[in-house]
Amino acid sequence: MSGPWPERRCDFQQPSVGGRVQCMICPHHCRIADGAAGICLCRKNIGGTLRPLNYAHVTSAAMDPIEKKPLYHVHPGRSILSLGTWGCNFKCDFCQNWQISQQRAETQFLPPHEAVALARRQHSVGIAYTYNEPTVWFEYVLDTARLAREAGLINVLVTNGYIDPEPLEALLDVVDAMNIDVKSVTEAFYRRHCRARLAPVLETACRAARRCHVETTTLLIPGENDSPDEIEQLGDWIAENLGPDSPTHVSAYFPRYRLDAPPTPPATLERAWTILKTRLSFVYMGNVVTDAGSHTVCPGCGAVAVRRSGYRIDASGLHEGACGRCGRKLNMVC
Ligand code: SF4
Ligand code: SF4
Repeated sequence: MSGPWPERRCDFQQPSVGGRVQCMICPHHCRIADGAAGICLCRKNIGGTLRPLNYAHVTSAAMDPIEKKPLYHVHPGRSILSLGTWGCNFKCDFCQNWQISQQRAETQFLPPHEAVALARRQHSVGIAYTYNEPTVWFEYVLDTARLAREAGLINVLVTNGYIDPEPLEALLDVVDAMNIDVKSVTEAFYRRHCRARLAPVLETACRAARRCHVETTTLLIPGENDSPDEIEQLGDWIAENLGPDSPTHVSAYFPRYRLDAPPTPPATLERAWTILKTRLSFVYMGNVVTDAGSHTVCPGCGAVAVRRSGYRIDASGLHEGACGRCGRKLNMVC
């Protein structure tokens, strides 16, 4: 079901040549003619004003374990109301959610105050903006996150990081944590597989890490971004720019959308995990059954602070965000 036509205008728009309007939300900076939409499909020039076509139009609303985002260092074991819409500013060949990211999809109308009320009714720790790219319904995320913050809820973004600094800083006023995809550390990968650029993503990660909790995720695709050299570069970049205690996820790819490379072998994930562990304190494996890559182990004394078995979480080894045995801080938001 489609909701009412949105009345909210897009933030961060400016007039451009020939009746076009330029969107300044993400580094594509689309110049959009009257009646057309930007690369993300969902921000449309209607009579000289950009409107978000998907404002409050929700394709999925579910209570998920926060570990599923993935965020392993934010209120371990809690569930979070997770909301997504349709559209994306990337065109990833391997998109796991292409049915909502690359085309308009069925929605239900959930205005910000109702989203917050729903989160409270469900005893959610907060609201996660996820499933597709939250940047492309910026106004809804901002309006909802402000209300959620006032209601004592946390806000988390699961994002590709492709956003301009000014809108990002506006979000960071009300966002508590982000999981940012660092899909590769090469510009060539971003150009070839995502039709986007790497540099703005890295800038977003650095800016975000100065103001909120940040975890990163890299989906390892055989032959594309999984070489030991590239994993070493990834680990070095995270350690230098986000810090060695920045939680880092590597996860297995499965063929989807336009990419039919074989699924990531578990041995590739384990090799990446081993390389990253020489540089980073908290490295996790996703989309695979693993013990070593699931638990949060204290880098100080080796105690298991959070034990994970699927989405069953035992955080009894944590004490106020630190290791319950030796007291070392574990970069947790609790
Ligand atoms: S958010 Fe959408 S319309 Fe705006 S610049 Fe990015 S891709 Fe273009
Ligand atoms: S950024 Fe995420 S949602 Fe967007 S196309 Fe890529 S994988 Fe899909």
